[in-house]
Amino acid sequence: MLNVDKIRGDFPILNRKVNGKPLVYFDNAATSQTPQQVIDAIVDYYSNYNANIHRGVHTLSQEATDLYEQARIKIQKHFNAKYSYEIIMTSGTTHSINLVANGFSSLLKKGDEIIVSALEHHSNIVPWQMLCERTGAILKVIPMNEDGELILSEYETLLSEKTKLVFVNHISNALGTINPIKTIIDKAHQVGAAVLVDGAQACPHLVPDVQALDVDFYVASAHKICGPTGVGMLYGKEEWLNKLPPYQGGGEMIAEVTFEKTTYANLPHKFEAGTPNICGGIAFGTALDYMNAIGFDSIEAYEKELLEYGTQELLKIEGLKIYGTSVQKTSVISFNIEGIHPYDIGTILDKMGIAVRTGHHCAQPIMDFYNIPGTVRASFAFYNTKAEIDALVSGVKKAKMMLA
Ligand SMILES: *Cc1c(COP(=O)(O)O)cnc(C)c1O
Repeated sequence: MLNVDKIRGDFPILNRKVNGKPLVYFDNAATSQTPQQVIDAIVDYYSNYNANIHRGVHTLSQEATDLYEQARIKIQKHFNAKYSYEIIMTSGTTHSINLVANGFSSLLKKGDEIIVSALEHHSNIVPWQMLCERTGAILKVIPMNEDGELILSEYETLLSEKTKLVFVNHISNALGTINPIKTIIDKAHQVGAAVLVDGAQACPHLVPDVQALDVDFYVASAHKICGPTGVGMLYGKEEWLNKLPPYQGGGEMIAEVTFEKTTYANLPHKFEAGTPNICGGIAFGTALDYMNAIGFDSIEAYEKELLEYGTQELLKIEGLKIYGTSVQKTSVISFNIEGIHPYDIGTILDKMGIAVRTGHHCAQPIMDFYNIPGTVRASFAFYNTKAEIDALVSGVKKAKMMLA
């Protein structure tokens, strides 16, 4: 069982007031809040051993390098990667996806096919469109149904020996749908295609096992898992990372440089040009420690309770419609009230100290599917409470009265 009161004590920001009201933070799908343990790790880094890594002989540099590399191992263990060098430190999910998309430029030819899903975040659509423009490859889309689920039978008809890559998110940020990625991966492998899974929205809620999934690439951002912004990871199978060319050129990523020819460093450094977000990487490791100490089983069970409670209470409001009604979903509720623009609801909720997201959630194709301009999205984390959901429900009722 999860001790929510104790957990809330770890998050200083949850004590603040917004517009005179206690903050109710329901924008966790955009970014999570930061526990004191992670804040302490950041302060400790800059207070005690700030130095550049991998090149200094002096003590501070060695300490920073050790802690940074320990963080990589924490990430490796968390995702159950076979080797620590299969974990590439990046600035986040978007960077990780672009790194892979760029690498595939040299591996694709005209007429090859890439499959993405209708549930993607823009960061998982645009880089592939750019890749298609560069290579002449063709983008195909797995369609979705009214519940916000991917239609797997359609996916199967899209697959062929022309398919080189499949890109799908593990959990949709706009609707909360948990996609059947194991099936998607297995079917892609049957035609010899590689699969990249965008785990940005899944990692706050569950622990992916990259070996059990047999996924080729898996990407995530620290700031959605209680870590800082500007840092994230790319897991890639060793054989794929060796096949891809480096993304950026610079320091750290080379073995030897002359003006005639440069040879590249081994994994993971081949993909880590320049000084990385050292402090962020270390704090990413601390954030994983923090969440694992609470335990993802407890987190999952508690968030399921919040989702069920929130869904039940919100649906009592007349004219309220929830988008994304898959049985397999996480604690995200995307909704609208008939005749009211989501933005107006969000603005009134903010006056009451309640933070929700409004708009298309970087997933415009989903909004087009439902023929709506956007939704109000309340996304719950393990530090939220039922009392906060009650505040949301009464806030939405008030907004409805004011706007109707
Ligand atoms: C947040 C998110 C991203 C983008 O993450 P960044 O940290 O902004 O790079 C990509 N995909 C999904 C599903 C997300 O939720």
